[in-house]
Amino acid sequence: MPHSVVQQIESKIRDFIMPIGWIKMGFLCHIGEIYGIKTALRDVFLSNIASLLASYGAHEEIMQGVADTPVGEKSDVHPAVNWSLAFHFLMESTGMMPAEIARRVGTSRGPEKSKTETAFKRLYRALADAERPAWEKYLRDRVGDKGWNGETLEKQLRRLPRTVPQGHLWFLLKVHFNAPITKARIAKAVGGVEAETCPLCKQETETIEHFANCPAVLDAYARVQWGAGLPPVPGGMQTLMLQEEMDGGTGAGVIAVYVGA
Ligand SMILES: [Zn+2]
Repeated sequence: MPHSVVQQIESKIRDFIMPIGWIKMGFLCHIGEIYGIKTALRDVFLSNIASLLASYGAHEEIMQGVADTPVGEKSDVHPAVNWSLAFHFLMESTGMMPAEIARRVGTSRGPEKSKTETAFKRLYRALADAERPAWEKYLRDRVGDKGWNGETLEKQLRRLPRTVPQGHLWFLLKVHFNAPITKARIAKAVGGVEAETCPLCKQETETIEHFANCPAVLDAYARVQWGAGLPPVPGGMQTLMLQEEMDGGTGAGVIAVYVGA
């Protein structure tokens, strides 16, 4: 698939999902592994590579056609050329042959499920796995730009229990990428408009930093803190950016109070 076509498709999807850009689209293809969010996007380009290799590999006569095609075939639309491009991309990013990956039994799922997993899924996963480190770095760099420790954030993310509701994980993802649409952000974006005060305490300008320490939020926290076995004071942005060493359950509890607020 030509790069321009991929870009065209991705920009249409991006405009549909977020009117104001706050994150690179590619990252949303990896939020399953990084955040445990179940509704990750599928990478258009990698899907294309994986489906091409999977469907060619499944038919001997097509592969024979590929093998019989003279080297140096020029046409961009010739099937053998497309196969060759996809093959080299896969080899370069994963270091493995398509057939090798298609046969490989997955390790992240149960053995029963992985036996029935399609070649396409295995190929796609191998390609996505190969790209993930770059996207993890993207997350570390983004939070690092705001002065937070990306490594700590990653480590604490992995400690969160699997029971954390999906909505809470989305909330965290948005906070980490500075995405929540607070009144202060709208005022900045629109221009010439006074930022409104926080609807909870009606005292200060509504920003995400204020929200993390809003007296009304802290008051709500104080009421549930003891019963829920949470630390006496929530850590504000420190907690939301997962900068503290705490067990996953406690972290999830504090985050839940913030989400509720
Ligand atoms: Zn407030």
